[in-house]
Amino acid sequence: MKLLASPEIWFVCGSQHLYGPGPLKQVAANAKHVADSLAASKQLPLKTVFKALLTTPDEITNVMLEANNDANCAGLVLWMHTFSPSKMWIRGLNVLKKPFLHLHTQFNRDLPWGTIDMDFMNLNQAAHGDREAGFIHTRMRLGRKVVVGHWSDPEVHERIGAWQRAARAWHDWQGAKFVRFGDNMRQVAVTEGDKVSAEMKLGFAVNTHGVGDLVEVVKAVKESDISALCADYEKQYAVAPVLKKGGKRHDELRYSARLDLALAKFLADGGYKGFTDTFEDLHGLRQLPGMATQRQMAAGYGFGGEGDWKTAALVRAMKVMNVGLPGGTSFMEDYTYHLSPKGHQVLGAHMLEICPTIAASKPKVEIHPLGIGGKEDPVRFVFDAATGDALNASLIDLGNRFRLLVNEVKAVKVPAMPKLPVARAVWECKPDFKTACAAWIYAGGAHHTGYSYSVTTEMLEDFATIAGIETVVINDDTTLPALKQDLRNNEVYYHLAQGIRA
Ligand code: MN
Repeated sequence: MKLLASPEIWFVCGSQHLYGPGPLKQVAANAKHVADSLAASKQLPLKTVFKALLTTPDEITNVMLEANNDANCAGLVLWMHTFSPSKMWIRGLNVLKKPFLHLHTQFNRDLPWGTIDMDFMNLNQAAHGDREAGFIHTRMRLGRKVVVGHWSDPEVHERIGAWQRAARAWHDWQGAKFVRFGDNMRQVAVTEGDKVSAEMKLGFAVNTHGVGDLVEVVKAVKESDISALCADYEKQYAVAPVLKKGGKRHDELRYSARLDLALAKFLADGGYKGFTDTFEDLHGLRQLPGMATQRQMAAGYGFGGEGDWKTAALVRAMKVMNVGLPGGTSFMEDYTYHLSPKGHQVLGAHMLEICPTIAASKPKVEIHPLGIGGKEDPVRFVFDAATGDALNASLIDLGNRFRLLVNEVKAVKVPAMPKLPVARAVWECKPDFKTACAAWIYAGGAHHTGYSYSVTTEMLEDFATIAGIETVVINDDTTLPALKQDLRNNEVYYHLAQGIRA
């Protein structure tokens, strides 16, 4: 994956000087042991490093400032092994700009009932020390994740792992650049949004290039590079005979490879993490990039069709969360429905730009007419998406805030569709089709989404908490009356909590 960093998570333990140097030494050793065991956990994607035992307001503030300034720090895990009076933490937490997770754990798993004495009690006080910490976090209205349980518990690692994936995606977004070739599709509302607000709130920049700038790069691609890439395609994919070397439409595969190489170069040279294009602005290109876009998404770039930069950024974030897990992530669109009384299903596709990381088997490379855009036939991957638990996520701009919507779905086997030569997925929505679609529509969710088999609702909720944006989850627990009330409550909450700095 391009431009993927592997930042660290700092493990920070709180205490105070009431206990004397002996117990503090023990606390520091225990905290380091916990941090090291998290660092060794295969369930955690980022390395945890023990940073410090903090016992004074100045120490706390200095470590928080250091975390802000260290580009390699993606977030902090805080734990109060003993009591750590939390007014000491106010100044530090006030300046902290990195995400944090509050781990409510205890060094000993079991209480030594037969031997427990006052020294043991005084040394293992997270039960009330972490409550003191929790109070100040809540008092200061700080977004954070609270994880409870013994530090060796695999379930605890799973919770921390989900948060680390979210923290890594957040780290990836800060300073990220996304490029748009052309504007939004004319008259479309949901793909619009406030890019200034996005940069203030979410940390990434979105800027445009006339498609002519890409065309110049397309023209400059070397024929020898195209030949090498086409040979590579034939090895990796099931290329249609007509497109193969010697086939009568091989020239069109070569043009697709030219687009592929040009996009890769443009994105790499510009340091971009994703892009958008639009079929309404292809001046100087022979075809809408199909396979080229699909290949770049598979390489880890975010993508949104029709100028949809919010979805491009979201797809990138989801791909970062996805790293190292089985099951891929793609740009997706709710395309058309199967409304049988035996079960309602959604056919998801985007005519062209679905990422092959979600393919159930080796993608086919084919060429067919597109039907829109008035350009030459685009080369595209054709495949069925995998089955299994998945989700759709959508980031929308409500004018005064961003909302992240999530709908958990179950992807089912794709029926044979011999006359639909596109990449496609078929899924059933949770809790059921009618509730899910009504909920999505009440919440204003887009037709474009990030679709993933590996990213979980928990990761996305953690991500939204870090970003300080609203999340709306549609899953087996969703009922429409409660969801509608949540939407009303959120209107008021965000209006008051955020003030006019939106
Ligand atoms: Mn679309």
